[in-house]
Amino acid sequence: MTHDTPVQSVPHEPSFRESVDLMFNRAAAVMDLSPGLEEKIRVCNATYTVRFGVRLRGKIQTFVGYRSVHSEHMEPVKGGIRYAPSVNQDEVEALAALMTYKCALVEAPFGGSKGGLCIDPRDWDEHELEKITRRFAYELAKRDLIHPSQNVPAPDMGTGEREMAWIADQYARMNTTDINAQACVTGKPVDSGGIEGRVEATGRGVQYAVREFFRHREDVARCGLSGGLEGKRVIVQGLGNVGYHAAMFLSQEDGARVVGVIERDGALLCETGLDVEAVAQWITHHGGVCGFPHAEFIANGAALLEADCDILIPAAVEGVIHLGNAARIKAPLIVEAANGPITVGADRILTERGTVIIPDLYANAGGVTVSYFEWVKNLGHIRFGRMQRRQEEARHQLIVDQLESLSEALGKQWSPSPDFKQKYLRGADELELVRSGLDDTMRTAYGAMREVWHGNGQVQDLRTAGFVCSVSRIADSYRSKGL
Ligand code: GLU
Repeated sequence: MTHDTPVQSVPHEPSFRESVDLMFNRAAAVMDLSPGLEEKIRVCNATYTVRFGVRLRGKIQTFVGYRSVHSEHMEPVKGGIRYAPSVNQDEVEALAALMTYKCALVEAPFGGSKGGLCIDPRDWDEHELEKITRRFAYELAKRDLIHPSQNVPAPDMGTGEREMAWIADQYARMNTTDINAQACVTGKPVDSGGIEGRVEATGRGVQYAVREFFRHREDVARCGLSGGLEGKRVIVQGLGNVGYHAAMFLSQEDGARVVGVIERDGALLCETGLDVEAVAQWITHHGGVCGFPHAEFIANGAALLEADCDILIPAAVEGVIHLGNAARIKAPLIVEAANGPITVGADRILTERGTVIIPDLYANAGGVTVSYFEWVKNLGHIRFGRMQRRQEEARHQLIVDQLESLSEALGKQWSPSPDFKQKYLRGADELELVRSGLDDTMRTAYGAMREVWHGNGQVQDLRTAGFVCSVSRIADSYRSKGL
């Protein structure tokens, strides 16, 4: 999170929800939807507001929370729960809508939902947060706003595995005979029904999205870049769960150079590339990036959004690229790891200028994709790979044995690379399967978006293309239901 100019303080900027709706409208304008259906898809179905009291520090403290359901064309509906003091109805509704479009784009069979609690988690101790979370979960679960077949929350800003474990346990206590209780929430710790690879999933998805983009030279050329990811200069805004993993993977596995990191207390700039892990450690111990050695510190962090780089990755909050700074953004490629980091007005300025934006509904869909795998795992009551792994190894062993006896019969020495046997013989474990499923999902979704981007003369950008893909799938599902 950073202290950037909030959307509201910039004149004539629509709210976050209006911004998402305007992006939807841009896609709807090039589609053939009946006006009634268009309206049905765009509107948020319902938002539940709860105000509840918890006795803490000798008095009753009142908290305000929301759970918004945008679309129930598929159930359960899905989306995270955010803890932040700035949470409000407009924001959860915008985020719920984005969940609808995101799930449709990556073919996760869910409608869209989102929740939020107006709280700064840093103000409370762990046991206090547990009491607050359990009470919030109780309020939502008793209205089926947490339910394995109706509404399945997940982590978002300010929440993580710990909160999801409390929610799962709270639901299980209230539904003692529900055999699928664990599937009421995703993003749980692995020892409480979670899945390997969920914590890194959104950042991993960002990496797979960027990799897929760079596989298409024609697309890379559209933003004026060339070549692969190796050596590309990246600036990441927000080193939370998503930004941290994306920066780590892109720098360590793809050779990209993270030259800038923007955090709440300022930014770091280092042309030779930052050690992302070291920066993250520094933040953990010092509460911010200030004082980090081997990098230039810039007190006005938001200014670094406008710095020269190849790839800008906003991975914090919504509205950080707005009418006030869009014209000064130099990055030719922006990857929206956060939800809604670019306002609709800023989006127009950037796309008209030729900046390519890999949009949030695609770029950060890795989280919900792996949530989908976790939900399926919970409903199946079995870990992925448990049935096949050894059988796969046995079949591979057969081939290796055959090759060895063949080379013996031919009097030739078969000498594969040292780690070939170990790599080839090993059956896939859950983490490998999750990564494979996520990679496949990201590639397939990009393909669908790309087809619209290149094939429809009226669509100029990847965001509109993404919306067109999603909205046409949602429309099909409403049409086949007879709505
Ligand atoms: N909060 C994440 C998002 O915005 C994950 C949602 C989920 O896994 O359901 O996509």
